[in-house]
Amino acid sequence: MIRELHNQLVSGAVTATTLAQKYLTAIEQKDGELGAYLTVSRESALEKAASVDESLKRGEKIDLLAGIPGAIKDNICIAGERATAGSKILDNYIAPYDATVIERLKKSGAVILGKTNMDEFAMGSSTETSAYQKTKNPIDTERVPGGSSGGSAAAVAAGLAVWSLGSDTGGSIRQPAAFCGIVGLKPTYGRVSRFGLMAMASSLDQIGPLAASVEDAAIVFSRIAGLDARDATTQSWNGKPFEEYLTGDVAGLRIGVPTEYFSKELDPRIRQATDTALEHFKALGASVHEISLAHSQYALPVYYILMPSEVSSNLARFDGIKYGLNINDQKDSTQETSGLLETYLDTRRYGFGREVKRRIMLGTHTLSAGYYDAYYRKAQKVRALIKKDFADAFQKVDVIFSPTTPEAAFRFGEKTADPLKMYLSDIYTVTANLAGVPAISFPIGVIEEAGKNLPIGGQLMGKWFDEETLLRAADALERQFASQKSN
Ligand code: GLN
Repeated sequence: MIRELHNQLVSGAVTATTLAQKYLTAIEQKDGELGAYLTVSRESALEKAASVDESLKRGEKIDLLAGIPGAIKDNICIAGERATAGSKILDNYIAPYDATVIERLKKSGAVILGKTNMDEFAMGSSTETSAYQKTKNPIDTERVPGGSSGGSAAAVAAGLAVWSLGSDTGGSIRQPAAFCGIVGLKPTYGRVSRFGLMAMASSLDQIGPLAASVEDAAIVFSRIAGLDARDATTQSWNGKPFEEYLTGDVAGLRIGVPTEYFSKELDPRIRQATDTALEHFKALGASVHEISLAHSQYALPVYYILMPSEVSSNLARFDGIKYGLNINDQKDSTQETSGLLETYLDTRRYGFGREVKRRIMLGTHTLSAGYYDAYYRKAQKVRALIKKDFADAFQKVDVIFSPTTPEAAFRFGEKTADPLKMYLSDIYTVTANLAGVPAISFPIGVIEEAGKNLPIGGQLMGKWFDEETLLRAADALERQFASQKSN
């Protein structure tokens, strides 16, 4: 889609301004119902589009992404724009600078339409913990779009953005991509700068693209990846755009299928879809091998110790003083203002939602004296074992294939009363974050539920910093599915 739009821009068949206007109008018409956007940046989007049109008029060569409208998850900072991270505590917060990914996107000429809804501070799997609004799944509006990047996924799936950025700490790009029938890439830890991303769990967070196709995701990804002096975990790369690796050729590729990911609880219809996908891979000349990621059974418990520990420390900065909301501003002149300690406590009590508070408490507990060794340190050790499972597996195979989620999109309210049920949504995705490996979700079929075709996602996990292979394999499968459809 991006390449096509780019060609239309270059040939003059369409201008960046009309393209931006078209999306802004679609947002105006449909987003009231859908709830994907928290902020729409009409003026700056049109300004950017006009500057791309100017470049074209001057006969300049423009980047593939120039003039292509996209949306940004609301936990990524854009200078001068509101950034709430889905939380009341940042209701009035205006970001003072651009995240590195935004700086890079702006440089490429990308048009940013606005900021998308999300679970509060990216904690959730349905976007229901947002302090602002529900986001509906465009495929079935009685169902959640997934989360936490639910707004970013819904916007693309509903045609209210060509591409979007999300963040993924335990599955937040891949799971909503799977629920909405689009592609989502969580890059290798350290591939994309986190500077300007509001930290949830710093050792797990990565920013990545959501888009309608693997190629589109690769194009956006190439524009945000690489070394950044402001994030010491980033690494350099040879700079060859990832979209150039999409040859459609997977002959000889070794695909590992981890037994642990195909348990009895897996919806048989999802298993069926993964079988079909593997058949396609084989037909393309890839080989399929059974492997074991033995410590995966501990991934979710380890995640729910390490992630809250990091959350409790990262969210300590929101105390009403430097960032966002201060409880005293909520009071009228007849009420007494709070003292310093009360300001901290009351601001946090009022500003944070239930799920965020739950995780801060869990994390404060696991880091406290006497429990640190029993929980945090032990979880770190198991994390190392999980990582080793991957290193061992990649001796034998090039990529690992699994479903993205154990089920398709669920209904609103279905899991909000039981956090454990909600957490299980990430059972197949958290391991990639714990190991730091790249992982992509892409559509592999649908299951019919009450007359609706609910999308399901397949997940490929790759070697550290080997997004090339991941994208090439996902793209080859996407082509195979497309050619089947047209036959
Ligand atoms: N759903 C997971 C959680 O609630 C993952 C969130 C994320 O990746 N940001 O923690």
